[in-house]
Parts: sequence; structure tokens; C-alpha cells
Amino acid sequence: MAYVGSQPIYILSEGSRRTSGRDAQSMNIAAGKAVSRAVRTTLGPKGMDKMLVDTSGTVVVTNDGVTILEEMDVDHPAAQMIVEVAQTQDEETGDGTTTAVIIAGELLARAEDLLENDVHPTVVANGYRFAAAEAREILESIATDVEGDDSLREIAITAMTGKGAEASRDLLADLVVEAIRAVESEDGIDLDDVVVETIVGGGVADSHLVSGVVMDKERAHENMPKRVEDAKVLLLDAPVEVRETEIDSQLDITSPAQLEQFLAREEGEMREMVEAIVDSGASVVVCQKAIDDLAVHYLSKAGVMAVKRAKKSDLRALARATGATITSDYEDLDAALGDAGLVEQRELGDETRIFVEECPDAKAVTLVLRGGTEHVVSEVERAVHDALGVVRVTALDGRVLAGGGAPEVELARQLRDFADSVSGREQLAVEAFAGALEIVPRTLAENAGLDPIDSLVDLRARHDAGDLHVGLDVYTGATADMMAQHVVEPLRVKLQAVESATEAVELLLRIDDVVAAGDLKGKDEAFDEMDF
Ligand code: ADP
Ligand code: MG
Repeated sequence: MAYVGSQPIYILSEGSRRTSGRDAQSMNIAAGKAVSRAVRTTLGPKGMDKMLVDTSGTVVVTNDGVTILEEMDVDHPAAQMIVEVAQTQDEETGDGTTTAVIIAGELLARAEDLLENDVHPTVVANGYRFAAAEAREILESIATDVEGDDSLREIAITAMTGKGAEASRDLLADLVVEAIRAVESEDGIDLDDVVVETIVGGGVADSHLVSGVVMDKERAHENMPKRVEDAKVLLLDAPVEVRETEIDSQLDITSPAQLEQFLAREEGEMREMVEAIVDSGASVVVCQKAIDDLAVHYLSKAGVMAVKRAKKSDLRALARATGATITSDYEDLDAALGDAGLVEQRELGDETRIFVEECPDAKAVTLVLRGGTEHVVSEVERAVHDALGVVRVTALDGRVLAGGGAPEVELARQLRDFADSVSGREQLAVEAFAGALEIVPRTLAENAGLDPIDSLVDLRARHDAGDLHVGLDVYTGATADMMAQHVVEPLRVKLQAVESATEAVELLLRIDDVVAAGDLKGKDEAFDEMDF
């Protein structure tokens, strides 16, 4: 508050709250740590799932870090910054979201200890930044090169371990690798080209890959063919209807004959549109907009299968799969057609889908995921999402690390050496950073019901002896070479996790003043009470 003479001047609106200095830092650190606590128990193959129920009663059962945090609807600003770490991790790599968040939480916890010992927050932030830069180099140096589909399958399996999809992970890994291989090109791999379609009914083992597109649609009329072989596919992004007369133009119909004439003209135009479609050779029409009833009638008489109001994303995928061009130019329809070996409407369980498949040179494919219930299918979908992400980045860079906490233990070891070369109090922060990374093996051990201290001591000893790839075998409780166990993760996932966790923590540490419109107090208390 500023004063002019004895007159206070209010620069903040009423009801806003300001927290400064150590209080602001403690508040932010507490909020960040709470987020990390919320996901800790889900880490690793033996991690637990969470059941989340939203205000409308919708239930989600999941093990996926980013999903948990998004469903939790966190709204404390500092906590939100940690949630964004998970979101960035997910967007960039598709996996490692829990890892990134618990590393951030531990960096915050250790920063708090340093702050309590009067190390200045800027010093901590700087030390963390040095350590992160060094960590990047260490990770690059311990990564190994891989090539070939077997490695990709291992990566996919590691990413899906502990998720709902576990029982069918071999099949799903095969499908994921096949899908990525189908859509990869010189320009890279666009995950939009792998459409994931979920269908409730059947079992996860019925999941399969379609070289084309699966639409959650039915044909426009039941007189249309249900099955078209060697289809010529037309993709329209304009409605199939006679253009409405302009709003301001008035139509004066004064006699029945005139009305008849008007309708006849409309019908004539419609017939012409349909004729143009049929003449182009199209046997399947997928329209993003409406198709007039009369046009549907003519199309079904001509034996054409038509789908109306298709999703824009389906049209895009259809274009990539069939080679068709999306058009609305009736003058030149033939040139826009694409090919599909088979287009068929099928009933699966309670659901109806249109399969556009056997596309000769499909640049977009569809992973059809099946499962007995909505919850199973959704969790399989999330696991497959992670697998697609990791297989994509590995197919792109071919660089991997061992899993099971091996890289974190190695990083901690080498960073402690590096700390000796750092002068001043930043050294303390580098050491804290090294220790913070060990939260990953510690949590893997804890979640597997093992003693985290014993596990960590064993792991450190093996790494001191030069065993780079030794991590924790969560099934036996022993340390083991993770490469030999086929537990592998993309380098990029770990790089991103360390980087985004550090960035968010640095940002939080540099804040010493929180000015909030409205009251944050309630939210802080909610966090203090949150105990996961
Ligand atoms: P995230 O959201 O961070 O990917 P996960 O729950 O998927 O979290 O757990 C990932 C961690 O589990 C990684 O450290 C990974 O190496 C480890 N992990 C995966 N499979 C195994 C395994 N079979 N044995 C030991 N650790 C594993
Ligand atoms: Mg994972």
C-alpha cells in the first residue's frame, strides 16, 4: 500500500491478496509438491491406478499422469505450472509425464531445504540450470543407438507396462509399430495420420490395424449398398443440395403452375449434381456437410454409397488414405477421386462403423482398439497413445536409454562429480539436483513394495562399478541390466522430462510475490489437506 501524506492509496482491487517473499515461495512449493504427490503412486509397472469421478459423475480409471492431472482440474497457479510440465511432456513425447512431474516435485522439495538454510532462490535456480545442462550432456553420452522393429516393439512394450493394456501388450506393440511404419515418410511422422478408433465390445485381442479409415457413421440410406469393392471415393466439403435462394430475394409465386415449375427446376438441378457425381465414376461419396433427401434418393438409385455430415478429421484422413482430394468443384470430380479396396458398413458389438480399407498406398491408417467395456477401451487407448509417442520419437532419432531408473541413478552419480567443479553455493544446488533425480528409482521401489533405501544403495553400488544400464527389476526386487531385460525408453522422453521439470521449477523459484485477484487462501488450504 502506498501513502500520500496520511492517505492510503489502494493499488489493488478489493478482495485481491498479496503474498510476498518466503511466504510466496513456501506457498508455491507446497502447491507444486502436492501435484507431484498426487501422481507418485502411479509410477512404473507396479504403480497403482486412480479412480477419478468428475462433478457430472463420469468415472475415469487411469494410471496415466497427464490424464490424472487434467481430470483433477487443478487451479492453484503454481500447481498449474507443474500440470503444464506434464502437458508439455505429453505433447512433445507422449510418455514420461509422471516422471517429469515427480522430478519437478522433488526439485522443489530440495529447493525448500536450501532456502531454509538461507541459500538465495536465484542461486538455487542457477545451480539447477547448470545441473540440467550437464544432465543433458550426460544423457546424450549414455544413450545407445537402435534400429529395427524389434527395438521399437520393446520401447512400445515398456511404455505400456503397468497400464490397462498389459495383457495384450505384445499384440498392441506390433500394431503400433506397424502403424508408425505405415505413415512414416521423409517429412517425418505425423501422429495425426494414425487415427485411433475405439469400439466397445469384443476383447482387446480383437484390436487390429486398418489400412484406411474407420468412420463412426452409417450410410445415408438403407437402400444404399452396404459393401463396395474397388471403390472410387469422392470427398466433398460442400453440401449436396440446391443452393438456397438469397434471403433478400423474394419469390412471388402466384399460381400452382409456377410453384410446380419452381420445384421442377430445383429437382432438375439436384438431378444434375447427382449425375455429375455418378458420371465421375464415384461409388462412395463422403460429404462433410448435409446431403439433401432427394439427392440421397437419386444416389441410392444409382447404387452409390453415401455418408453425410462426416467429421472434418475423417475427411482429412480419408484423403491421406485413399489419395482423394477434398473438393466441391463439380466441374472436375473425376480428378479428385481416390481408391479403396473395400468400403463396408459393419456392426461390431452395439456399434456401427464404416470401414474404408485396403487402400493401396495409405498415408493414414486406423488403429481399431477393442475392449469389453468403456473403461477398458479408454485405458487401452491411453496406453496406445503413449506407445505411439515413444515409437514415433525412436523411429525418428533411434536413441534410447535403459529404463527402470538406470539413467537417473547414472545421472545422479555423474552430477555429483560435476558438482565438485562448480564453485560457490551453486554447488549445493547441483548436489540437490543430483539427489532429486533419484526420486525415480526410489519411487519405482516404493511402488513395488520394496525398500527404497536398500534399492538405491544397491543401484548406486552397481553404477559406481560402471554398470551404466543397471536399474531396478520391480518384479524380483533385484538390480538388473535393463537393456538385457528389454526395458528401454527413448532418450527424448528423459531429456524432455528433465528439461521441462527444471524450467518450471526455476520459474517458480524466481517468484517472490504473488498478487492474486480474489482469494487464494482457500486453495492453499485445500492443497495442505490434499493427501494422496
Ligand atoms: P510415466 O508417466 O513417467 O511414463 P510410467 O508409469 O509409465 O510413468 O512409468 C515409467 C517408469 O517405469 C520408467 O522409469 C520406466 O523405465 C519404468 N519401467 C517400465 N517398465 C519397467 C520394468 N519392466 N521394470 C522396471 N521399470 C520399468
Ligand atoms: Mg510411461
